[in-house]
Amino acid sequence: MKVAEIRRKYLNFFASHDHVVVESSPLIPQNDPSLLFANAGMNQFKDTFLGNEARAYTRATSCQKCVRAGGKHNDLENVGFTARHHTFFEMLGNFSFGDYFKEDAISMAWEFVTKHLNLPIDKIYVTVFETDDEAADIWINKVGFPKERIYRFGEKDNFWSMGDVGPCGPCSEMFIDRGEQYACGEECGLGVCECDRYMEFWNLVFMQYNRDKDGNLTPLPKPSVDTGMGLERIASIIQKTDTNYEIDAFIDILNRTAKMAGQSYDPKAKDAFNYRVVGDHGRATTFLIADGVMPSNEGRGYVLRRIIRRAVRYGKNIGFQEPFLHKICEFVIEQMKDAYPDLTDKKSFIMKAVQAEEEQFFKTLERGLNLLDEEIGSLKGKTLSGEVAFKLYDTFGFPVDLTRIICQERGLGVDETGFEQAMAKQKEQSRQNWKGAGGAAVDGIYHELAEVLRGKNQAPVFQGYDQLSADGT
Ligand code: ATP
Ligand code: MG
Ligand code: MG
Ligand code: MG
Repeated sequence: MKVAEIRRKYLNFFASHDHVVVESSPLIPQNDPSLLFANAGMNQFKDTFLGNEARAYTRATSCQKCVRAGGKHNDLENVGFTARHHTFFEMLGNFSFGDYFKEDAISMAWEFVTKHLNLPIDKIYVTVFETDDEAADIWINKVGFPKERIYRFGEKDNFWSMGDVGPCGPCSEMFIDRGEQYACGEECGLGVCECDRYMEFWNLVFMQYNRDKDGNLTPLPKPSVDTGMGLERIASIIQKTDTNYEIDAFIDILNRTAKMAGQSYDPKAKDAFNYRVVGDHGRATTFLIADGVMPSNEGRGYVLRRIIRRAVRYGKNIGFQEPFLHKICEFVIEQMKDAYPDLTDKKSFIMKAVQAEEEQFFKTLERGLNLLDEEIGSLKGKTLSGEVAFKLYDTFGFPVDLTRIICQERGLGVDETGFEQAMAKQKEQSRQNWKGAGGAAVDGIYHELAEVLRGKNQAPVFQGYDQLSADGT
């Protein structure tokens, strides 16, 4: 069953249970400055759940575009390294606004999963909130789910809240055991580790309480339901792929990426993560620009810029030496245009915007390298001055990590104290101009620049899992 069919089946199933099919909202949340990007199906219904906005219906279903690359939910660093995380993904959901509650939510989910998707029942595990006897009872006695595969967890895993105050409640999640071959070790287990053997695929949230500013929970007069199931995850379960990245909506993008680089994509190869990152970030870039985000130095645009630069960094590992990501975006558009027809109209704009950003980034990298070469050429002693290292960093966007590495390679040191002093001075001067997370965010970019350049200056293209995952980007 292909992604398009799963999406259609889900919406049809809930429509046949009296849900109104609602379009995905754009990735940029409307009227919600607290949220970076849409990151769950419930976002667009937030005011309805809160009772501030009346709708003509009490049941809805949707397939929501989501991005989790910043803010509370940030999966950026997981991408490429787990089987199940993306920055951009689609979340299927069904919602009850004071209509049905736990029993119907669980029964419908179970019916869909077992009768319509035919998932292997004996591989499914269920979690409930530690004190939620009601949900456990429904699973056992109404649905007939085996008691021994129901796990109870605490707040961290099975209690959901919209914020510090407001609606909240326990949740019940479905997991699938993908098999021993995916175990992370002997200690592997549901609730024990975060590996991909037991993969979460559907979260059923029961909004049941209102939490006040003192932390008191009072029952909501009309309890509600919010569910979310990752489309790529359920597709990977049904299509029995090693990771989400081999499902039909992804594999074509990765194969074409590999072909463009004169390679082939092998999901089991140890450098497969490079393709996954590039493919994932190509999707996120495409959809973010389509929804009106442009690369910039702050806020949403900064997250997009980071995603693009990260894609370039991993693309270089594949062997791309010049702008390539805009072409990946073209593959993405071809793959997704049936489900998201607006992409066709926006194609040339998206490709141009990405290409311009890539070109600029590739040039920055070149400039930095040339400049450092000159400085080293005219150096008298054995230490590059902190001032010069700082100038490279500050004026030319050249990361100090890299300056350090190149100097080391040539038997030189960097005056670290001088660098720190120059940095502190500059920070003090510009403190007034930095707002919010700006400072930290910019550090992040330089860190990534360092990684890209490091890749360029080292002979082997593949840098190994350790180095790539340990850098914190
Ligand atoms: P995980 O624990 O695997 O990170 P989660 O608990 O953060 O997932 P939820 O916030 O419960 O996820 O979101 C509901 C569903 O959306 C998940 O059960 C999963 O199917 C899907 N999902 C969540 N995050 C991602 C992601 N980064 N990429 C793809 N699908 C996701
Ligand atoms: Mg998560
Ligand atoms: Mg989870
Ligand atoms: Mg969850």
